[in-house]
Amino acid sequence: MRDVMPWREPVPLDATMGEPRARGRFGDYGGRYAPESLVEACREVEEAFRGAWADPGFRGALARLLAVHAGRPTPLTPAGRLSEALGVRLYLKREDLTHTGSHKINNVLGQALLATRMGRRRLIAETGAGQHGVATATAAALLGLEATVFMGERDIERQALNVFRMRMLGAEVVPVTMGSRTLKDATSEAMRHWVGATGDSHYCVGSVVGPDPYPWMVREFQRVIGDEARGQCAAELRTGVPDHVVACVGGGSNAAGTFAGFADTPARLVGVEAEGGAGAARGRLGVLHGCRSLFLQDDDGQIAQAHSIAAGLDYPGVGPEHAHLRDLGRARYVTVTDDEAVAAALRLARTEGIVPALESAHALAWVIRAAGSGELAAGSTVLMTLSGRGDKDVSTLKELL
Ligand SMILES: *Cc1c(COP(=O)(O)O)cnc(C)c1O
Repeated sequence: MRDVMPWREPVPLDATMGEPRARGRFGDYGGRYAPESLVEACREVEEAFRGAWADPGFRGALARLLAVHAGRPTPLTPAGRLSEALGVRLYLKREDLTHTGSHKINNVLGQALLATRMGRRRLIAETGAGQHGVATATAAALLGLEATVFMGERDIERQALNVFRMRMLGAEVVPVTMGSRTLKDATSEAMRHWVGATGDSHYCVGSVVGPDPYPWMVREFQRVIGDEARGQCAAELRTGVPDHVVACVGGGSNAAGTFAGFADTPARLVGVEAEGGAGAARGRLGVLHGCRSLFLQDDDGQIAQAHSIAAGLDYPGVGPEHAHLRDLGRARYVTVTDDEAVAAALRLARTEGIVPALESAHALAWVIRAAGSGELAAGSTVLMTLSGRGDKDVSTLKELL
């Protein structure tokens, strides 16, 4: 299998990131592996999403929320000093400048608006570091919905500030005491809770994971990143399209949204995972949280615990569409260590005056490495999604610097 698509080879139709095939399939991945009552609930979400996405009224209302509440469109920033040092032309898509400080708000506003359209009065969500929980609590407050956020007990201890933010926004935070008491268990518990609450609650999944239609729907709500960037590149770059499009990958939502804007172009797509959470680069086929995809597993097929300094990349798997894009060779997935990410975060802070989230710093770390090794040709253009701002990570960094 090739890991890089040759320049200007025609793009396979299957790789253009349209609708999944029947039953939410991306190649061999995806699907809807859930208890019967959730299969029905997912079917309702799919039907509602199809209707909403085809309705200019819904699209207009979402576009307005994204503009007046979340601060879209976000800028495309040329990283001038860093580009000069690296010998490539690097452009940053600034999701760190959205309200609440990361791309998660794009998806959450879409799903909250959909929940309202479906007559639901409450959002259920899982959260690891609390970023998706805070975004969900924010959207719920804005639209007059209740929010119940499941969070592992260990994460609650580690992320006290985000727990407080969620409570301040009016959300209920439910501690999860099972298993490793982190994101994987919080997700299982949120799904279990939804079984008994499908009538009045919408489950707001935080990445391109979970049962169909979530991987597709979340990618469509994040597509705004790629679509905006495509237009901005057309105006800014002589070639119109960048040579490389790079984003970090936890579950894969900011990468999927970014890639979707460039899937029908010759741009090379690169997803950057954490060394300790490399579902796409090193996972094996499995089923978790309602979906068939690539997951880190031990020899018995038990899902392994992921480890990353960036809490948002601490998921042991990757969304099914990324697994498929990998198999097709349309996108390539690489890994970066904690140390490389920390060094990249500092370098961006000191050359461009931007403190990135440690998740986003992974994408930058690969750009720095690839520019140094010549893998990125001198003078080539690179679009990188800066998925979030680094304020949430200062206490982690303080202990290291
Ligand atoms: C949650 C998060 C991620 C990882 O999630 P994806 O679904 O892979 O995008 C990346 N960056 C930031 C800032 C996050 O908060």
